[in-house]
Amino acid sequence: AAGLSVADGAIAAAIVGEKTRQRESIELIASENFVSQAVLDAQGSVLTNKYAEGYPHRRYYGGCLNVDAVEDLAIERVNRLFGSSYANVQPHSGSQANQSVFLALLNPGDTILGLDLKAGGHLTHGAPVNISGRWFKVVSYGVDPETHLIDMDQVAALTRKYQPKLLIAGGSAYPRTMDFARFRQIADEVGAVLLVDIAHFAGLVAGGVYPSPVPFAHVVTSTTHKTLRGPHGGFVLTNDAEIAKKINSATFPGLQGGPLMHVIAAKAVAFGEALQPSFKTYVQAVVENCRVLAQELADGGLKITSGGTDCHLAVVDLRPIGVTGNIAEETLESVGITLNKNAIPNDPEKPMITSGIRVGSAAGTSRGFGADEYRQIAALMLDTLAAARDETLDARQQDINNRVRQLVAPFPLPY
Ligand code: PLP
Repeated sequence: AAGLSVADGAIAAAIVGEKTRQRESIELIASENFVSQAVLDAQGSVLTNKYAEGYPHRRYYGGCLNVDAVEDLAIERVNRLFGSSYANVQPHSGSQANQSVFLALLNPGDTILGLDLKAGGHLTHGAPVNISGRWFKVVSYGVDPETHLIDMDQVAALTRKYQPKLLIAGGSAYPRTMDFARFRQIADEVGAVLLVDIAHFAGLVAGGVYPSPVPFAHVVTSTTHKTLRGPHGGFVLTNDAEIAKKINSATFPGLQGGPLMHVIAAKAVAFGEALQPSFKTYVQAVVENCRVLAQELADGGLKITSGGTDCHLAVVDLRPIGVTGNIAEETLESVGITLNKNAIPNDPEKPMITSGIRVGSAAGTSRGFGADEYRQIAALMLDTLAAARDETLDARQQDINNRVRQLVAPFPLPY
C-alpha cells in the first residue's frame, strides 16, 4: 500500500518481497493456504482499533455495536458450517484454542492421552516442550509400524490403563481418516472427555470430504488458516452447554484479553466462503490433487507413509533415494518449492534431520492447480531430489527454477 511504502520502507519492502515469493514459488506446506482478497480486506480493516473484552452484547467496553454484529455472524456461520450448537471464535490461534480446553476442563497434574508428535501429533497434544507436556501427565499413542494407521486397540488399552481425563484425536501429519465414533466409545469407557483437534482437516470436514467429529466429540478445536482458508486464528466448538460456558470463561478472561476483532471479521468472511457450494468443489479438488501428487511421487520411487492419503497432506519417506528430510527441504526451497521436513513413523533420524517430508495441496489448489500441475510438481520434485542426491544441483537449479516459474505463471494470486 502507498501509505506503508512512504511511512515504513523497510516493512513495505519485506511485504513486497513476500508477495513475490508467494507468487513465484510452489507452496506445498500442508498447513498453509492463500486467503481471498475479501478475507485480507476484513483483516486489514479498522476493526483492529477496537477493544471488545467480553462476548457479544456483554462487553466491558462501549462502542461495540459493529463488532458485536461481526462476532455474532462468525459464531452463527461456524455453527452452521459444522452443525455444532456452541462456538467460541476468540482464540488467537489453534494452540490457544487447545489451551482453552485445558484450562476449562483440566487441572495441572491430570493425565492426557494424545497422538505422539513423532507419529503426526501436534505439540499441544502433550509434547514435553509445550505447556501441555509441562503441566499434565502425558501418555501418547502411536501408529502401527506396518500400516502407519492409528492403532485403536492401543488407544483403548492405554485409556483403560492410564484413565486419562482427556483423550485427544487429531494431528498435524496424519494422512488418513480417523474413527471418531470409536474414539468416543473408548473415552466413555473411563469417563474421559474427547477433544478432536481438526486444525488440519477443518476445511475438508466443512466441505463434506472428511468425516465430521462434531457428533462424537465433547469438544472440537481448530485453526482457521489451513484447509479452512481463513486468517491465522482458532476456534472451539461443542454441543454441550456446560462445556460451552466453561470454554467461554477459559478463553476470556482465563487466557486472553481483548479479542482480535479484525481477525474475527476475517474468520466470519472465511466461514461465509466455506458455506458456498464452490468450497465443496475446492476441497474435493484438494483431496484429489493430493492423491495425484502422492501417487506420482510413489511412481517415481519414493514411499508414501500409510500407502497414500485421504486428505490434503501426505508424508513422504525419502529413504529409497537416500536424501534426508532437511536436505530435501533446503534443496527444494532453492528451486522455488516450499515444504517442510517431517518425521516418518519410527524415524531413525533426529527431529532436525528426519527421513521424510510433508506435502500438502490446499494452497496450490486455491490458486487453481489441478491434477496436471500436481503431476508436473511431482516431476520437478523428483528431478530436484535426484540432483541433490547426485550433487548435480548447481548445474540444474536454474533450469528447474525456470520450470517452477513457468508452472505458476498462469495462476496469479488475487493480490
Ligand atoms: N493443532 C494442530 C493439529 C495443528 O496442526 C496446529 C498447527 O499446526 C495447531 C493445533 C496450532 O495452531 P497454531 O499454530 O495456530 O497455534
